[in-house]
Amino acid sequence: MNTADRAPPALPPLYQWAAPPGWRCIDFISDLHLSAALPRTVNAWAAHLLNTPADAVLMLGDLFEVWVGDDQRERPYERSCIDVMAEAASRRTIGFMHGNRDFLLGQTMLNACGLLALPDPTMLDAWGQRVLLTHGDALCIDDVEYQRFRATARTPAWQRAFLALPLAERLRQAGAARAASQQRKDTAGFDPDLWADVDPAAAVAWMHATGCTELIHGHTHRPGSETLTPGHARHVLSDWDLDHGEGRAEVLRLTRDGLKRVAPATAR
Ligand code: MN
Repeated sequence: MNTADRAPPALPPLYQWAAPPGWRCIDFISDLHLSAALPRTVNAWAAHLLNTPADAVLMLGDLFEVWVGDDQRERPYERSCIDVMAEAASRRTIGFMHGNRDFLLGQTMLNACGLLALPDPTMLDAWGQRVLLTHGDALCIDDVEYQRFRATARTPAWQRAFLALPLAERLRQAGAARAASQQRKDTAGFDPDLWADVDPAAAVAWMHATGCTELIHGHTHRPGSETLTPGHARHVLSDWDLDHGEGRAEVLRLTRDGLKRVAPATAR
């Protein structure tokens, strides 16, 4: 591998957000990959947003399997998701950070849902705990091909050109890209342990630069917590899928006492 391609990403301009001191609890979820094909998953997500005891639910990317522009919100499935978020946002703060699947979710959709936009990365200060929040894809620097695509697709010029295409064509292109990516994995003999992961040194560099002791990210679908270096812990969020196999869904919850993993809230 050409090491020049693997330069650690510079820390983007940092967005800092302090949780109101009266809050008691903040939930983090990510990688729900919601689509009409996952009815149980969307129901569990809706029940959690509406019934959690948390003051805020922060969704750290890949909420939707695909998002190719805010005109997608007019489709029936997406409209039902908007209704859920708008109702939840009337009760508590619902935050949204872009993932690699839904980075085109825009201000129109944020407004329709009442979502708080969280730039990637965001530094959360809650009860004196400094937590760095990121989707995680920017730190997966071993995935050189993806990083090239990401750099291009995050430019205003690329987004203007793509969003000018008809919705059906954007959906077609997104589907083709996912199929090609799946085929690469299948051909390579998919091994979760070889799947690109957050680069530990790059993660620690971001944490060091921001004075954060905890890093929370999704994207890799390998939930777990570990110490990267002394004083720098990372917590990987669970993906959600309750429509296949045994199913999995998990919430990472922050309180004054720290982080713990809990099951999603269910309808009361
Ligand atoms: Mn992702």
